Amino acid sequence: MTLGHLPRMSPQKIGQLTVHACLDSAGPTRPPEDLLRGLPDDRTDPDWLAPYFSDDGRMLLAYQSFVLRLGDRVIVVDCAVGEDGEFPMRPDWDRKKSNWLAHLGQAGVTPDEVDTVFLTHLHVDHTGWLTRLEGDVWSPTFANARHLTTKVEHDFWLARHQDFPYMGASVRDSVTPVVEAGLFDFVEAGDEVAPGLTVVDLAGHSPGMIGLEYREDGKLLAAFNADLMHHPLQMAFPEVTTLFCADADRASAVRQEKLAEYADAGTIMFCNHFPGESAGLSERDGVGYRFVPTS
Ligand SMILES: [Zn+2]
Repeated sequence: MTLGHLPRMSPQKIGQLTVHACLDSAGPTRPPEDLLRGLPDDRTDPDWLAPYFSDDGRMLLAYQSFVLRLGDRVIVVDCAVGEDGEFPMRPDWDRKKSNWLAHLGQAGVTPDEVDTVFLTHLHVDHTGWLTRLEGDVWSPTFANARHLTTKVEHDFWLARHQDFPYMGASVRDSVTPVVEAGLFDFVEAGDEVAPGLTVVDLAGHSPGMIGLEYREDGKLLAAFNADLMHHPLQMAFPEVTTLFCADADRASAVRQEKLAEYADAGTIMFCNHFPGESAGLSERDGVGYRFVPTS
């Protein structure tokens, strides 16, 4: 299946940084209770969730990458689900096609021009486009890029992926060929990936999850916050975690800390799994926050 036109984030210009979205898929998925843990039984969902984030009781989710241009640098953040992968547990992903590469082209980028692939974590829905199937061989998509993640994340998933059936064949087909090509480097919190663009620790959802923060003149302008939230309901109810969180308490704590920090600083957050306009502000709203898209 090749997915047709889907709502996609407008290109963003933030200081010297430009950001495009490469969308792999988006649409209605499952009811919140099937993914989220700790939702109040008596909750009232905020009306700002409709129509972009909720459809007839099902969450609207996106799977995508962000392409950053900063000076002469070209950085891909996360690699979505990809094409042709084997996902017997997810029929909608199994051997699917997508328009992701066309979106990369619309951002004015060829795979060979990408100098850095930043992987927030190695979950199956963030590694797909690391490789492409050529004949029956999976080859790195970004042969000229250094691929960055944490050692914790790399070591955990290469050792343990078979304990998690939802990972499918993603480590074998998407991650291992890049490791074997010698294209991986490890980073940690505080490292500068490009001028003004630093690594931030977001561990909790995954054992070594990281994000990126972008500053100019000391001002925190933008944050690429990975799976800090899967769905905006986790802004309204920041304590709510997902069934995929490795350390639920830590995931909840870092989410609350970062939502407060980004609200105070007026930071534009780029949210992988928010469909449509995925970039927006964290704004205080009662005991939680609301998502305010920039466009
Ligand atoms: Zn994810």
